[in-house]
Amino acid sequence: MWLMVIASGAFVAQHSMAPEVGAGRPDGEDEKEIHKFAETVKNSTAVENVQVPGNRPYKPEMNMPVAPISLPSCTKCGKCVTVCPTNAISVADGAVITDIEKCILCMACTHICTEQARIRPLPLQQKTEQMLGALKGVRNKNEVFL
Ligand code: SF4
Ligand code: SF4
Repeated sequence: MWLMVIASGAFVAQHSMAPEVGAGRPDGEDEKEIHKFAETVKNSTAVENVQVPGNRPYKPEMNMPVAPISLPSCTKCGKCVTVCPTNAISVADGAVITDIEKCILCMACTHICTEQARIRPLPLQQKTEQMLGALKGVRNKNEVFL
């Protein structure tokens, strides 16, 4: 099958690992821009592939052999197991086990844990701060490619 990409949009959302980055996004202003983009695409008569800039491979410095960890306060409720999109987490013999090879660092498991027992390990916290610390409180613009 031959596919053509006629438009692409990069819309800001709250960062999964650093919630202070993009906090509250997308907001009302973003929604207006998203709707405008959708209308433009819907009415487009483009016949060429749109060129989208970016890093390929995507940010190789984030290829760290780490995954979130569970603290002793973990109740083994299994919520993190059910929400993990890559089936990286299992509960066996009374312990939460995470397959680092499968983890894509989406942070769904840390957000779902009502015990605050699922956290980023220290090296990942440090890397996140190093890479994203300067972006806290910055309102980045959405980008569209048409
Ligand atoms: S969601 Fe939290 S408390 Fe429940 S098993 Fe996972 S880490 Fe433990
Ligand atoms: S960060 Fe995402 S992929 Fe990794 S273990 Fe948690 S839910 Fe699974």
